[in-house]
Amino acid sequence: MSGSWEKCGSKFKQHPLNPEEEGVLNHGLKLLKRRGLNASKDGSSMKKYKCLICDYIYDPAKGDPDHGINPGTAFENLPASWTCPECGAAKSDFAPVE
Ligand SMILES: [Zn+2]
Repeated sequence: MSGSWEKCGSKFKQHPLNPEEEGVLNHGLKLLKRRGLNASKDGSSMKKYKCLICDYIYDPAKGDPDHGINPGTAFENLPASWTCPECGAAKSDFAPVE
């Protein structure tokens, strides 16, 4: 009985992904990627924000590494405790740069 189980198992492992299955997988990946792109667009996440008090520009591509903010962090995703590195203004004192 164990012999037949082994055969069955190895057959299953060696079974290659057929093109149809692969297509479904790739399609799913594409959908996921597209959804991710849309999310960043809709959320206007990668916009630069300007401090209204000292004109410091927060650039999401650069982040604020000195204060533990990784490059690629959208302004919306900054912690509420984050303040302007130049003058200490709160997030609410920033306006998006068009
Ligand atoms: Zn400032």
